Amino acid sequence: MRLVVLGSGSKGNALALEAEGAVLLVDAGFSARELERRAAAAGIPLDNLLGIALTHEHGDHAAGAPVLARRFDVPLLCSPGTYGALLPRSPWLRHRRVGLGHAAQAGPFVVEGCPTSHDAAEPLALRVRAGRTGASVGVAYDLGRPSAGLRWFLRELDALVLEANHDEVLLRTSDYPAAVRQRISGAGGHLSNRACGELLGELVHPGLAHVVLAHLSERCNTATDALAAVGPALAAVGFGGALHVARQHHVLGPLEFSLPAAPLVR
Ligand SMILES: [Zn+2]
Ligand SMILES: [Zn+2]
Repeated sequence: MRLVVLGSGSKGNALALEAEGAVLLVDAGFSARELERRAAAAGIPLDNLLGIALTHEHGDHAAGAPVLARRFDVPLLCSPGTYGALLPRSPWLRHRRVGLGHAAQAGPFVVEGCPTSHDAAEPLALRVRAGRTGASVGVAYDLGRPSAGLRWFLRELDALVLEANHDEVLLRTSDYPAAVRQRISGAGGHLSNRACGELLGELVHPGLAHVVLAHLSERCNTATDALAAVGPALAAVGFGGALHVARQHHVLGPLEFSLPAAPLVR
């Protein structure tokens, strides 16, 4: 499996997974035209697209999904709530259910979901496994507060794409109205760099090859701040993989992680 982050940030999030010649998008938060442009630039053949997995319906995650789903005649793999939120304006959409106890398949990809606390209809963190290699990636944005269930769901994966939304000081001193600041830092909002580092500290294991910090706020975060907060937390628990920061305007990858996880020494 190969992972390409087509872009990530407050203004749009999308990544592409490629395995056995097939392509799955996880979120499609740019216009369809922009997604096609970025995929072409990254060498991702959207003609081989088999589905679009969605974390939730907010525009920065789903803006291009309806048009792409129609153009390539592929289903959405998402929660019933996310599908229901998009369907009224896009009645052609087809759905494969993802949720607790419901895995959806598209070609070699198997997609599972875990509920997250965020102010959307039925948001999920997603976990994707690919066919013969068994390679796995977890994607979690717009996290609010990470639950015990989410911590369990994201264990033992080969790659993690995790929200590092804001620096707490930059958010506190930003010119956002108080209500917006509270929404961002609240239980239905976004994960700070510090909280992201804490969560990753619990998720590191010998087989974790890549960590991608994603969904950075343009106003309340920088790549330098995110790395400064998360890097030491990862080093403290012996993380031996690669740490990346996904950008709003640039493609990241491809990241390869088809090697089997190193055996745990007990
Ligand atoms: Zn959202
Ligand atoms: Zn978002």
